[in-house]
Amino acid sequence: MPLPKRNVIKAAIVEILQEQGTLPVPVVHEILAERFNLSAQDKAVLLTSQPQYKVEIRWARQELVVEGVLERLPASGRGYWQLSGKINSADLYADEALPDGPYKEGSVKKITVNSYERNKKARAACLAHFGYSCMACGFNFELSYGPLGKNQIHVHHIVQISSIGNEYELIPTEHLVPLCPNCHHMAHRREPPFTLQELRAMVKSAAKTV
Ligand SMILES: [Zn+2]
Ligand SMILES: [Zn+2]
Repeated sequence: MPLPKRNVIKAAIVEILQEQGTLPVPVVHEILAERFNLSAQDKAVLLTSQPQYKVEIRWARQELVVEGVLERLPASGRGYWQLSGKINSADLYADEALPDGPYKEGSVKKITVNSYERNKKARAACLAHFGYSCMACGFNFELSYGPLGKNQIHVHHIVQISSIGNEYELIPTEHLVPLCPNCHHMAHRREPPFTLQELRAMVKSAAKTV
């Protein structure tokens, strides 16, 4: 049985860490492998030179870090994962409960920027408009990784949470942009997040100096 979808893996990671606190990475891998009934054969599948299931778990973890659910730099040392404790994960995984389009989301009281980013219809509308290349650096998963990279990209919500009122109408082509996980990570290095223009300038000036 292959690994389930990213969101399911993420929810499982959060649940496990909530139950058991800080855990070493290999233990998280083992618990997840067991939970998802991975056979020895499943675990032996490689992506480049690493077990694919570990790579997929790491991607799930990376998204949780970007979203602020997991600690960015493990306080307890390298190789451990732990919840940041700042965000109620129940809020983050409420996307199934979000109303379907049109994209009025004001009826959902406690909402985070991340739940906007995870709204499936809004995401689809954004990607239909902008495509699957990072709008800051141009990275494209399919071009770099082949068929496995098809349709892989993060969607970032560019409206500041403080400016979101009670009734907020999300316009996917104006409020959401595709970003690669690297640029998405960098965007959230600051609060409020870096803008597209700032990210592009960063990438450009860094390329010049190296
Ligand atoms: Zn990028
Ligand atoms: Zn974002």
